[in-house]
Amino acid sequence: MTFKELNITEPILQALTEKKYENPTPIQEKAIPVALENRDIIGIAQTGTGKTAAFAIPIIQLLTEKTSDNKHNIKALILTPTRELAIQIDECFTDYAKHTSLRHTVIFGGVNQNPQVRQIKQGTDILIATPGRLLDLINQGFIHLDNIKHFILDEADRMLDMGFIHDIKRILPLLPKQRQTMLFSATMPSSIAELSRKILNKPTRVEV
Ligand code: AMP
Repeated sequence: MTFKELNITEPILQALTEKKYENPTPIQEKAIPVALENRDIIGIAQTGTGKTAAFAIPIIQLLTEKTSDNKHNIKALILTPTRELAIQIDECFTDYAKHTSLRHTVIFGGVNQNPQVRQIKQGTDILIATPGRLLDLINQGFIHLDNIKHFILDEADRMLDMGFIHDIKRILPLLPKQRQTMLFSATMPSSIAELSRKILNKPTRVEV
């Protein structure tokens, strides 16, 4: 299987070639076709399987197909538990979206918020965030989630282990009901199954 056979479009294909990715990993092969159809996904995959590209590539492709108006408001939100993961995901978007006009921003706690706020004010299509800082900036009126079309909950099990469930429960009602949701988790305890039932709409289960 090749990325071309997964119907990935040229600007992304070129970026993947530059990254020297030759073939999709198993999670990418399974998740990308489902995600490109705008369907919800519950993905059981560890870090190291290529799961970031499994959600980043389809988001970039779906947003490039739709973003003809060039309005840089937040259309995709990726929630992840730690600053390290947030930075890694942001770097993936830098790589895969380099030949598109999409903008992406990463926000996380423990640092001064002003540079992050400045970047958001300049306009961003994709936001990668840790839950606490996201809520902070929402509460201060710097971020609105009304235009979100794609929502990704990354490392959901770790998110719950770290006590982020309350933050997540505050964020969820702010998201439009009409959206694509992808939840990724390394394990599937009953708490995650329950959360999945709440936030996913007829999800396809993708496992590696
Ligand atoms: P992840 O599981 O998303 O943290 O990705 C693990 C590593 O695999 C990262 O360093 C990616 O750059 C790399 N990677 C992801 N997809 C591919 C691919 N299709 N071919 C080669 N390397 C990949």
